[in-house]
Amino acid sequence: MQRDIYAYKCKKCGHLHYPYRMVCRGCKDNEHNEFDPVPLPRKGKILTFTRVHNLPAEFDVAVLSLGIVELENGLRILGQLAMEQPKIGMAVEGKVEIVRRAEYEKNYGMVFYEA
Ligand SMILES: [Zn+2]
Repeated sequence: MQRDIYAYKCKKCGHLHYPYRMVCRGCKDNEHNEFDPVPLPRKGKILTFTRVHNLPAEFDVAVLSLGIVELENGLRILGQLAMEQPKIGMAVEGKVEIVRRAEYEKNYGMVFYEA
């Protein structure tokens, strides 16, 4: 089954949030927490990225590329970059995968591949 990561859309003003927020940043007036979950789009482009070394043991890899990706709907999310040579502006497509393995938990996140 294909997993999704969800953004939260304010029912009052339509502002999208990711990750979840208690108060809408658009209308600041969502006291009833009325948000519709909407799956994040898969396609986007790399805005910026960094290479991370010396990761904790629960990561499977020695070096990780992390990028901020602007998705088709304008949301910006932090994700793992799977390609060897990321470039700013590169078109990418995300898959939802386990991004960190630890004994007691599995964390799903978006991993981006060159589109
Ligand atoms: Zn709102």
